[in-house]
Amino acid sequence: MKTIQSLAPEAVWKQFYSLTRVPRPSGFLKPITEFLLNFGKSLNLESFTDEIGNVIIRKPATPGMENRKGVILQAHMDMVPQKNNDIVHDFEKDPIEAYIDGDWVKAKGTTLGADDGLGVAAIMAILEDNTLKHGPIEALITADEETGMFGAFGLKKESIQGEILLNLDSEDEGELYIGCAGGMDVNVTFQYKEVGVEEGDIALKVTLRGLRGGHSGLEINQGRGNANKLIVRFLREAIATYEARLAILEGGNMRNAIPREAHAIITIPAENEEELKDLVEYCENMFNEEFAGIEENISFKAEKVALPKGLVPEEIQDDIINSIFACQNGVMRNIPSVPDTVETSSNLAIVKVEDGVGEVKILARSSLDSMKENLTTGIECCFNMAGAKVEMTGGYSGWQPDVDSPILHAMKASYKAQFGVEPAVKVIHAGLECGIIGANIPGLDMISFGPTLRSPHSPDERAYIPSVKKFYEFLVATLEQIPEKK
Ligand SMILES: [Zn+2]
Repeated sequence: MKTIQSLAPEAVWKQFYSLTRVPRPSGFLKPITEFLLNFGKSLNLESFTDEIGNVIIRKPATPGMENRKGVILQAHMDMVPQKNNDIVHDFEKDPIEAYIDGDWVKAKGTTLGADDGLGVAAIMAILEDNTLKHGPIEALITADEETGMFGAFGLKKESIQGEILLNLDSEDEGELYIGCAGGMDVNVTFQYKEVGVEEGDIALKVTLRGLRGGHSGLEINQGRGNANKLIVRFLREAIATYEARLAILEGGNMRNAIPREAHAIITIPAENEEELKDLVEYCENMFNEEFAGIEENISFKAEKVALPKGLVPEEIQDDIINSIFACQNGVMRNIPSVPDTVETSSNLAIVKVEDGVGEVKILARSSLDSMKENLTTGIECCFNMAGAKVEMTGGYSGWQPDVDSPILHAMKASYKAQFGVEPAVKVIHAGLECGIIGANIPGLDMISFGPTLRSPHSPDERAYIPSVKKFYEFLVATLEQIPEKK
């Protein structure tokens, strides 16, 4: 049976194989750090770790290339440890069993770690090969990207000398990424004292289901339904017309997922039960019509339940529902200089109103930091008007694309010369380390690219073999084309 070390380019696959032997789940990086430092030292290259645990290895320019701009080759050392239930695997001890399946390399029942092991392997191949032509190179292998980009956050300007950064951590060969979104968590809190249920009322639970949901950044431009936004449309009408009162409201459970389900428990005067059920049916039909072609089978149902122990006071119930109704959700703006690409968006991700506390959690994203602030301030205004407390946490910078970037022009031309077609140039509406590194080290000219991977972060993770050769040859050619220092 063919082993992955025999795949082309051997220089890369040989290093990738050696990485599969070293445990490197996020948060357990001592072995991989030592391995990388020893690798650099074995080549007699300056090799060290910074305070946060990033590994930096410097390779001098080859003769005649000394006056080229310095290039930072960046990848992350950690991998996501995921395995199938029927596999016994200790990510802190056991090697990853990579194998060839047709055109793909996969792992036996675990994540493969090609994200970002192939990026690291390509860097190692370049550090080791003394036949290449390149200017000064700095390998920056960051720590703990997958659990919160801690290495990128902790990187200090003084640790780095290069002017151009090539991030080798994107997942479609033939695409160049020139921007990414930053993010901010907006946390809203309402406090209230429950009031008693009114005499003669009955309780209903209404449940909205069947929405597609999806990634709150990558899929925010698909026009999918947001369960929290839809259910408050019903609630507002039920309150205005059928004297409904809110006891419990819950929707969504992950900040970075578009909410697929929501439910509420309401009370109404017993005589309004049939009309309220008609309203539920009316809303179900209306939602399905509004989202025809995007969503299928949105289900909205009401069922009679036991009376709740208390209700949200009328005024606060209205404040909660009106502010969720009014809050910005979805795409706010596209990037003016890049067609059909989202710049700024929000996801009204989680709502939980119960037992005297109402919480709303929103994830705001933008590639442009000032637009992110514009958006989050707008959301803050909306909930402040409703009397809620608003806190911002977990903010990180975006990477606003520079369509005039010199390295972008050089790489587009070099790709066309090598493969006869233009690469696609894209901006990703999700976080990349480039956003954070670029904020720590202003002025870097950055591009992100990589070989084709599928289903990263899952045991189905696989790397497309032909793309690895193209990716590596393009990287080597790019290093030859780096412009001279000014
Ligand atoms: Zn990655």
